[in-house]
Amino acid sequence: MSEEISIPVSDKIDKMDVPAEALSEAQKIKKGICPSCDGSLVFQEGCKVCYSCGWGGCE
Ligand SMILES: [Zn+2]
Repeated sequence: MSEEISIPVSDKIDKMDVPAEALSEAQKIKKGICPSCDGSLVFQEGCKVCYSCGWGGCE
């Protein structure tokens, strides 16, 4: 008797399906998520600003 354990090899990793926690800082900023508090970033005069914690991302 042999038991065959099938491991699903489906790669369900979708770029838009990744939880915010797993994103890197750069990815969060790209998605408009504050890397500091996970709040919403507001795009303002070429900078991304978080009104929740005061985080600002300007290059
Ligand atoms: Zn913030």
